[in-house]
Amino acid sequence: MSEPRQVVVIGAGVAGLTSALTVLTNSSEPVNVTVLEAESTVGGRIRTTQFAGLSIDEGPDAFLARVPWATQLAAELGLGASMTSPTDAHASIWHNGMHNIPGDLMLGVPAKVRAFATSGLISPLGKLRAAIEPLLPATTDTDSIGEYVRSRFGNQIHERLVDPLIGSIYATDSDHFSMAAVPQVAALTASRSMLFAAGRARAAATKSPAGPIFSTPTRGLGALIELLTQRVTALGGRIVTGESVSTIEKVNTGYTIITSRGQHFADAIVVASPAKPSSHFIRPLDSRAADLLGQWSHASVVLITMAIPAAQWPARLKGSGYLVPKPDQRWVSAASFGSNKWAHWRPDDGSMILRVSLGRDGLEVLHFDNDKLINLALADMKLHLGVDMTPSEIRVSRWAESFPQYRPNHFARLAELEHSLGTAAPGIVFAGASYRGIGIPACVQQARSAGEATLAHLAALHS
Ligand SMILES: Cc1cc2nc3c(=O)[nH]c(=O)nc-3n(C[C@H](O)[C@H](O)[C@H](O)COP(=O)(O)OP(=O)(O)OC[C@H]3O[C@@H](n4cnc5c(N)ncnc54)[C@H](O)[C@@H]3O)c2cc1C
Repeated sequence: MSEPRQVVVIGAGVAGLTSALTVLTNSSEPVNVTVLEAESTVGGRIRTTQFAGLSIDEGPDAFLARVPWATQLAAELGLGASMTSPTDAHASIWHNGMHNIPGDLMLGVPAKVRAFATSGLISPLGKLRAAIEPLLPATTDTDSIGEYVRSRFGNQIHERLVDPLIGSIYATDSDHFSMAAVPQVAALTASRSMLFAAGRARAAATKSPAGPIFSTPTRGLGALIELLTQRVTALGGRIVTGESVSTIEKVNTGYTIITSRGQHFADAIVVASPAKPSSHFIRPLDSRAADLLGQWSHASVVLITMAIPAAQWPARLKGSGYLVPKPDQRWVSAASFGSNKWAHWRPDDGSMILRVSLGRDGLEVLHFDNDKLINLALADMKLHLGVDMTPSEIRVSRWAESFPQYRPNHFARLAELEHSLGTAAPGIVFAGASYRGIGIPACVQQARSAGEATLAHLAALHS
């Protein structure tokens, strides 16, 4: 009998763990799977810890449920019955005061004239500029969201609607972000008028019965990681924490992986770590691929969770939170009124759980110490909400280089990278936020494909 094949997965975020699960579940032959994780814990950007007596996420708090991958994974892991969705509280945009986010938008792109015609967010001149969008000639030759939307609707629609909505999801400055990386918006560029395309897309979305937009386990997204870890281990996978990959060398048809603790042999590798660290260990295999990976930029953010005593929270603030457009930002880019957004985030004493985001691509905040960050957040919120708040509990989560920035033409660079590495080092595949989509569902989808590609490579080694 032949020895089991060896698969090594680098990184134990949701992409790495799901890749391991896919290989272990779908392999028709014995296979050893080892997941190597540099940090002392698994989960990567997904982390749920206790705060104000509740399980509150420090990073992502939900995933998009209108695409199947994460929802299916949660169901496969047995989380179906304990999933929940946000309340129907609405978010606002702060621009010299709070404004409701208009209906009739597709990720900030107007789907009807009334989306901006009746909003106090846009000036009369800005409304006139936006209204001529259907009359303009087609916009071509740009993959920059900012450049495209500004050319269609003018600066105000971009800066006060589209950029806040997209920027808050990707911690980005959407003037420098790839349109193709946001498929819902990219789909609106197929016809000449973005307004009409958004109108048609919204009408189609309203017609088809759709469940909730977002979903999450009531125990927090950490539950997804916990169950993934258990499942991978139960299937015989080995998850090693505190072991960082530093170099990969090719040996015959396989690879030697040198780590901070020793070395491993692999017939196939899934790289589920972010682009920057990956560029270092890929270099001995392919310097062009390493150079490309090294060019990826990543934005850092800080997420401050606060419990505000019930007596301090104004009853008028019933929404789910607000976004701050880039030209209006000092440090805070968004604040989520967590206890309004999530029914399971309501402490017994009636406190409000807030999650306040500071920083994005082009707005550095990590150099501040925690006290300074907390003061900046409270000062910004005083400006935005008109209230002085003294939190009864505070937690600062620093997310260094946590949001990959897909610059315009990202996917062309990725194709070049994969082509180059595919020739130099067959059997090495990428999965995760740095590559084909940033949100949790996209990471799961990539992990499924990476797992399948790994099995196909192992099968080809036999022939
Ligand atoms: C604050 C915040 C809020 C977010 N909110 C949402 C949200 O609401 N919804 C949503 O869908 N997405 C959200 N995201 C995005 C989403 O969480 C991430 O894109 C996703 O979790 C990334 O998963 P991943 O497995 O690709 O990478 P990661 O989670 O980054 O995991 C990669 C792992 O690789 C490890 N690693 C790195 N180098 C090495 C090495 N040399 N050797 C071994 N291991 C290594 C790292 O330590 C890490 O654990 C958010 C992200 C952040 C930071």
